[in-house]
Amino acid sequence: MSSDEKLQKGLFWTPRGGNNAKDIWASCHTFSSVTENKQTGLSERTTVIVDLGQHEFPKDFLNGSFDKVVPALGDCLNVPGEKQPEDQARAIFLTHGHSDHVAGIYEYVKMGVPLPTIYASQHTLNALKKGFFENGINSEQWPEMQEIKAGDVIQVGDMSVEAFSASHSIPGCFSFKISNEEESIFHSGDTKADETSYLGKGVNLSSYKKIGRNGGVDLMTFDATATHMAGHASYESEIFNSYRQIFKDNTGKQVIAALPAAHMERLASVISAAQAAGRDVIIHGGASMESNLLALNLSGYDLQKKCPDIRIVSGTSKEAETIDPKKSVTITTGIYREIQSPFVQHLLGKQSDFIMQKDAVIVAPTSNDKNEKLQILLQSKEFENLKVITSSSKYKIYGSGHAQADDFRKIARYIAPRTVAPIHCSSQKADTFNELAFKNGYKTLPIYPHNGVTVGIDRKNGCRIVDRKEPQWIGLIHRGKETSFQKVGDNGYSTAFHDQDLVKARQQAAKQLIADYRNKKNLVNQVSLINRRKNER
Ligand SMILES: [Zn+2]
Ligand SMILES: [Zn+2]
Repeated sequence: MSSDEKLQKGLFWTPRGGNNAKDIWASCHTFSSVTENKQTGLSERTTVIVDLGQHEFPKDFLNGSFDKVVPALGDCLNVPGEKQPEDQARAIFLTHGHSDHVAGIYEYVKMGVPLPTIYASQHTLNALKKGFFENGINSEQWPEMQEIKAGDVIQVGDMSVEAFSASHSIPGCFSFKISNEEESIFHSGDTKADETSYLGKGVNLSSYKKIGRNGGVDLMTFDATATHMAGHASYESEIFNSYRQIFKDNTGKQVIAALPAAHMERLASVISAAQAAGRDVIIHGGASMESNLLALNLSGYDLQKKCPDIRIVSGTSKEAETIDPKKSVTITTGIYREIQSPFVQHLLGKQSDFIMQKDAVIVAPTSNDKNEKLQILLQSKEFENLKVITSSSKYKIYGSGHAQADDFRKIARYIAPRTVAPIHCSSQKADTFNELAFKNGYKTLPIYPHNGVTVGIDRKNGCRIVDRKEPQWIGLIHRGKETSFQKVGDNGYSTAFHDQDLVKARQQAAKQLIADYRNKKNLVNQVSLINRRKNER
């Protein structure tokens, strides 16, 4: 933020990650409120961080030089090797437990950065704790964590953050309303307008209505991952009906339902449909699905209790052998031919205890049937008796966890924002989102608020861009228990569609930086967490 803006009062939003040029990874946002201290007359700033994700495909970033890439937050967190920031973030709020929203936290802990209190739902905190274990971070290194529920309002300085239940693809998702005395922002997180859920609660639209009735918000930052698609994102109730129909239409045959490992809402819908059709359930999805189920159980979601009429057993248990495959459904992973999926292992003829009958029915939904990799595998002669049901079949079995055009319309109508801005999308999708918003009568920003852009609230004139900074990232390399890291430029990652010359210059600079990095010349920080901890003791 420029120096004269610094003195300006107001509420400010800066996307730090996730508002990339081509993709959605590494979601992270900061919100700041600047007010005047009535006694001293000086301006005071309160900053909170919402989500701290990591780039899910660091190999695509900066020529794959780093194992992990996270947004650089040295201006609001104490990063070793950087000068202490004046404006320390006072809290971290998490919308949900997906790693593109939380996994940056592990990297910051590994860098030895002290973090402020993390506020999130019970399920998100369980996912986070599971991640700490998986990252070898023991409990004395954990930051302070505080469970919050929908309806809770957390006061941080002069800023208040209210949590609203949101519907996405896992339980415990939040949207946040962030406000100071005068201004307000509604930050959707990953969301859609689905009130049906077989796991817990979907979105609470009536709580959204209250926001609208109380005067709306100045700005709504909205999940634009799928708003380019017409209609609404499939409701879990619609998915439930489709699976129930598939189970009925294929009576007497084993059904194998392949799902994304992390889509716990979908898992619950399919299990509920199995109960409605009187089929027992075998869950055999490998380590990733098991670990998500564990987090679910830790959060008190008991699928067996929800579906008491059927048996739900693990595919690796002895009990699985007592279930008649023809009267059951096996839930597994592998829709994108993930090699570690037991289903894929079985199809490849590698050793696996996966049970698949010769005439089984495979249900494999993906967006645009992008599962062709799996299809090719299934086309082999030895599988010619299998029946494969994909998203292009007559059954509605695919549903995104993200809002489509109608979801946006519905939520925006309730929230009543004066300006809207896209988050969690590409530049192209941001343009489509702005068109949709404009057609529906909402003010938009003149540009896609890429990472590094700061938006200030102006109730009279609509929101305005007050600053455009070069976004920064931290690249990390892990060697055993050693962690080294370095601040790196954006390489055009956030702005590629907007300024081609700048992109070229950045790419050139990045190449040089990587060359230096490889020669270990320019390494700013070489930190051994383990050694430092040893010295501290
Ligand atoms: Zn998500
Ligand atoms: Zn996300």
